[in-house]
Amino acid sequence: MLYFQPIVTAKEGRIRGFEALLRWRHPARGFVSPADFIPLAEETGVIIPLGEWIIREACRIAATWPGEVSVAVNLSPIQFRHSDLPLLVRSALRESGLAATRLELEITESVFLEATPAIHAMLTTLREMRVRLSLDDFGTGYSSLSYLRRIAFDKIKIDQSFVRDLPHERSGAAIVRAIVDLATGLDMTITAEGVETEAQRLCLLHQGCHEFQGYLFSKPVPALEAGILAAKRDLPERPHAA
Ligand code: C2E
Ligand code: MG
Ligand code: MG
Ligand code: MG
Repeated sequence: MLYFQPIVTAKEGRIRGFEALLRWRHPARGFVSPADFIPLAEETGVIIPLGEWIIREACRIAATWPGEVSVAVNLSPIQFRHSDLPLLVRSALRESGLAATRLELEITESVFLEATPAIHAMLTTLREMRVRLSLDDFGTGYSSLSYLRRIAFDKIKIDQSFVRDLPHERSGAAIVRAIVDLATGLDMTITAEGVETEAQRLCLLHQGCHEFQGYLFSKPVPALEAGILAAKRDLPERPHAA
């Protein structure tokens, strides 16, 4: 099933959208983490039908939210290799009635490890469809920066590993500063992931991040609850606006 975690504006703490996060409720093991079963789904090829279901389901649910609220969907590099993503996305948008601009696709740098012309063409087509593209877990992969010149990403997500030890750890702070500089120069929206404390929030706000996601605001919640939050565009106990 899909859970949804709010993504809020940095200044006001208002809900801008949700990230769809996969959950597997195993009859014996309880909730299995996607970190454990996504690699398995990738190895076995199950990620292809599963990934198709995720996109359709996320669009279907997001279409019930107010018009300004977007949904972010994670993509596996395998989906670029073994499926026609623009075709699938077009069909999911048409079936659900969701505007393309309300769908964000989260891609990690690992997609660019084998930057084939076919992958480049798919990303370009998705951009032309006005779907938003996000770079997820930025700075944790093994990619060069050259793809940033070829693909216009709308958003960059600063990985939680850089956020975790803020504001006191110097290297994390320096990396965040560098990412914010880079992304600002490229006109990208900057989202910080894994924001858990008020001190982290303030530090990231001062650094110039535009959006936050993390347990400080909300854990991922079931679709029903996400719908209620989306309608209010507000969290019950959000930290005070800056
Ligand atoms: P991600 O895309 O970087 O998602 C963010 C992860 O951070 C989620 O873990 C979320 O629950 C967790 N998180 C959010 N806020 C906080 C916080 O304040 N503190 C901490 N410690 N963690 C926080 P989750 O749901 O376990 O997902 C792990 C990864 O699995 C995702 O990382 C993503 O790469 C992958 N994944 C999840 N759902 C899907 C999916 O539908 N498709 C694909 N291909 N991958 C998925
Ligand atoms: Mg993600
Ligand atoms: Mg991430
Ligand atoms: Mg991550």
